[in-house]
Amino acid sequence: MDHLLSEEQIMLRDMVRKFATEEIEPVASENEQNHRYPENIIKEAGELGLMGVAYPDEYGGSGMDFVSYMLTIEELSRACASTGVIVSAHCSLTCDPIFRFGTEEQKQKYLPSMLSGEKIGAFSLSESNAGSDAGNTQTTAVKKGDKWILNGSKLWATNGRQAEVFVLIASTDPGKGTRGVSTFIVEANTPGYSVGKVESKLGIRSTSTTEIVLDNVELPESALLGEVNKGFKVSMVTLDGGRIGIAAQALGIARASIEDAIKYAKSREQFGKPIASFQAIQWMIADMWCQYNSAWMLTWNASRMKDAGLNYGQESAMAKLVASEAAMFCANKCIQIHGGNGYTTEYKAERYYRDAKITEIYEGTSEIQRLVIARNLLK
Ligand SMILES: Cc1cc2nc3c(=O)[nH]c(=O)nc-3n(C[C@H](O)[C@H](O)[C@H](O)COP(=O)(O)OP(=O)(O)OC[C@H]3O[C@@H](n4cnc5c(N)ncnc54)[C@H](O)[C@@H]3O)c2cc1C
Repeated sequence: MDHLLSEEQIMLRDMVRKFATEEIEPVASENEQNHRYPENIIKEAGELGLMGVAYPDEYGGSGMDFVSYMLTIEELSRACASTGVIVSAHCSLTCDPIFRFGTEEQKQKYLPSMLSGEKIGAFSLSESNAGSDAGNTQTTAVKKGDKWILNGSKLWATNGRQAEVFVLIASTDPGKGTRGVSTFIVEANTPGYSVGKVESKLGIRSTSTTEIVLDNVELPESALLGEVNKGFKVSMVTLDGGRIGIAAQALGIARASIEDAIKYAKSREQFGKPIASFQAIQWMIADMWCQYNSAWMLTWNASRMKDAGLNYGQESAMAKLVASEAAMFCANKCIQIHGGNGYTTEYKAERYYRDAKITEIYEGTSEIQRLVIARNLLK
């Protein structure tokens, strides 16, 4: 797909590919099996400018475009899907709403240390009764004088254990549903804030996914991100961008599955010849490649539209839907081509399969993506 990319984008992609192949890939499986957060890798990613690819230099970003960001997440995820989503949740879900909806003061306060990777971000929208129904937030923020007092508990925050800065959604007008929620920037060292249950997961085990408990957390007025009662819009706009990040993560998993499947099919012999010579194997590889390419084009298109300042909500939903299903398809076939070996932890195929599944769930399930696409078509 190089003909669709600029020289600058190709240079960045090749740099990230080298970093991912040399530094991330060798340790990814062991880290994942041991539920180990890749602290040094994230630090190095920060030094390489990968924690703020698509943000302007004036806030400490790398000043590149969103296509470059997509390529970065794909390359990181090809080596380690956990690393891909740590960076994606940090950039798309936390830095992005601060950059888009923050006051100049908020941007100056938070972005430089976040875009350098010194401080990690997390986004906390979900709750036990607010998943797909994201507007059903029970956590409250009540205004007392010039302070906001937050109470409740959020679920499933990616980077929950490591993050120092949270973009968090709370209800400011409980009777009003999606029209009564607001967004806040919460620092993890605020009294009353704590990390609750840490989830034990099927895949992306190098990431932390946690509950966030808010017990009379007192925030200054300046912690409000955007306008009062407009937090649902902030969340939805944030997720539009985030879904491209997850599509790129899925692309990375799909490509890793294809590359490993080809390598294995060429080296494994049965009936006196490499299994790659059997048409059944060739067809699987051809199907995997078609799915990956279709998903790549949709993700690239959504990224280009975001770069061009166009509405890209439907395109990002399409990219995430198709890329996550491509990742599941490719990871499944990768195991199949590896035969019994694919089912063991000696090979990476089983990790790809476990990691692929989450891309169909977070930042809106596949059913929700279909709903977004159909609603847009039927309006
Ligand atoms: C590992 C992990 C990391 C996550 N990270 C974050 C994070 O960083 N921040 C954050 O805020 N959240 C995060 N989440 C939460 C995630 O976004 C939600 O789990 C997801 O949106 C689904 O919500 P739910 O789990 O409540 O499922 P539910 O909403 O209960 O859905 C259950 C099933 O019902 C279907 N369904 C629901 N409503 C409809 C409908 N209207 N039409 C058709 N089908 C429907 C769903 O598609 C699904 O199949 C994370 C989750 C996981 C597992």
